[in-house]
Amino acid sequence: MMLLLLVRPPTTTPKVKALTYSEFLGSVRADKVKTATIGTEGQLKGTLSDGLSYTSQIPSIPPQNQLQALLEAHKVQETATSPSNGFSLGTLLLDFLPLVLLIGLFVWMGRRAQKSLGGAGGLMGIGNSKAKVYELSDRPSTTFADVAGYEGAKAEVSEVVDFLKHPERYTKAGAVGPKGVLMIGPPGVGKTLMARAVAGEAGVPFLALTGSSFVEMFVGVGASRVRDLFADARKRAPAIIFIDEIDAIGGRRGAGGGFTTNDEREQTLNQMLAEMDGFDPATGVVVIAATNRPETLDPALLRPGRFDRTVEIPLPNVAERKAILAVHARGKHIGPDVDLGVVARGTPGFSGADLANLINEAAINAVRDNRSVVSEADIDHARDRILLGRRDASNALLPEEKHSVAVHETGHALVAALSPHADPVAKVTILPSGQALGVTEQLPEDERHLYPESYLEDSLAVRLGGRAAELLVIGEASTGAANDLAGATQLALRMVREWGLSKRVGPVSYSTGSPGYLDMSHVQGRPYAEATQRTIDEEVARLLTEAEARATELLVSHRKELDQVAALLLERETIDGKELRAILEHSSVPAAVTQAAPTAQAAPTP
Ligand code: ADP
Ligand code: ZN
Repeated sequence: MMLLLLVRPPTTTPKVKALTYSEFLGSVRADKVKTATIGTEGQLKGTLSDGLSYTSQIPSIPPQNQLQALLEAHKVQETATSPSNGFSLGTLLLDFLPLVLLIGLFVWMGRRAQKSLGGAGGLMGIGNSKAKVYELSDRPSTTFADVAGYEGAKAEVSEVVDFLKHPERYTKAGAVGPKGVLMIGPPGVGKTLMARAVAGEAGVPFLALTGSSFVEMFVGVGASRVRDLFADARKRAPAIIFIDEIDAIGGRRGAGGGFTTNDEREQTLNQMLAEMDGFDPATGVVVIAATNRPETLDPALLRPGRFDRTVEIPLPNVAERKAILAVHARGKHIGPDVDLGVVARGTPGFSGADLANLINEAAINAVRDNRSVVSEADIDHARDRILLGRRDASNALLPEEKHSVAVHETGHALVAALSPHADPVAKVTILPSGQALGVTEQLPEDERHLYPESYLEDSLAVRLGGRAAELLVIGEASTGAANDLAGATQLALRMVREWGLSKRVGPVSYSTGSPGYLDMSHVQGRPYAEATQRTIDEEVARLLTEAEARATELLVSHRKELDQVAALLLERETIDGKELRAILEHSSVPAAVTQAAPTAQAAPTP
């Protein structure tokens, strides 16, 4: 503004002479005036004959024509101005320029502020910023072929694909197509992958975001983002909106027992429900949401017309694991010694993401050894690493420690191999892995969903077998059995308290359910009497003592094999299940080995 004031061209030239009216008349009479411009209010401007400018003012009293006559007589060139004439476009611009610049400056600063605030929206546009809120892919190339296994889930979502491809068919029949699909499953099982594949199969845009990215920074932003998202999806319809971790916004409204009020989340949720209700069924926008905690979702979300279809995606079973491994083995050089079926059997509880990671780790392992072909050892190594943490050097143990670990692990392995209902032993090792000094690995032959009492009792004996062997061979127990005992006690406690497997306690379940964050039951006390507690304790102790007696009995009757296997372990550090069974079969006492009695987990028994 200062600049403008200074630069502004002077509207009056410095050489202006201010004349009184009498002086002016005098000048006219003396023929000193060349021109005169008369304004409407009697202002006089003009030039004198010597080139100077002058101003003057005509008093309103004298008759105008008299002045005119005088001017004409002295040949003064006369002009008159209209009122608007002093008001040119140029001066208008000059007068308003500072204001315009000032406004411009504000807009510019606003823009800058908006940019520096990033995704949060600027000074002027909170919640309007579309940056980074969701990821958009116009036509994902993922198809159902990229999702291994899960044929059931695929069949369920293929209805959505059909709807997105031909929404008009549904309108013609008067049917309302699916609006929302809720995918339930643990992390890494491929929920995102599946949703993307639905978009890929239908050839529609895929808008993905996480629930937590809705709830950010400013109150009310979540709701406005939901609005933006749905508006954008409608523009691109048919389209798929994918919301990961929907529990972040879709949690039960009013939950939290009055400890927290979460207005923001509720607003977001309400907005989403409103948007979903407001869909014209013909628009062809389908919302797919994923969660691993369906029980925390607000029931309003699951109402018909919202997420009325739920597709459950559990952890993959053996066959599915094999298929997933095959998908990820594509494009990698897998050696001929690798049997993906065996790998699949050895990885119960692995999710699709874990399996992808396993293959990748194995490949990295091969690269580290300057090989381009992935061998079975690479995969074993990778699995152990994922399961048990980093493998340490085997000389971390003192020699006598190594001996007692060998005896301990042999105890587990023999009891497992000799118990008719236990899972077959896959591998025994005294190489320390992660927290464990040695590991006896049992592999189930099939997936199990129910565990009979006999299986659980054998499992107790296997867990106590390590300690029993130490007592038998070395003559004293060690701290190495701490985890075994804790695991066995936990299992026995559940057998008695939850599963009704004790005759004295009877068919009662004192299960406290899943202890929630704000579960107060442990503060209020147990839901049973002191006397019951005593009975439970006694029954747990009985189960454990009986199991230990059974383990000791088995080991005493196979003392020769116990020493043999322990010696072999000390020498070789790792022996697999086949060798163990061979040793047992060669011995005189017939062994009741390997009947199918599987579990869902390969429980490494430290
Ligand atoms: P979620 O969304 O359930 O947490 P993702 O869809 O992100 O899991 O899956 C993570 C990764 O795991 C995928 O990118 C894929 O590489 C792998 N994966 C999971 N399930 C499968 C499957 N069924 N087939 C092939 N790969 C899978
Ligand atoms: Zn043990």
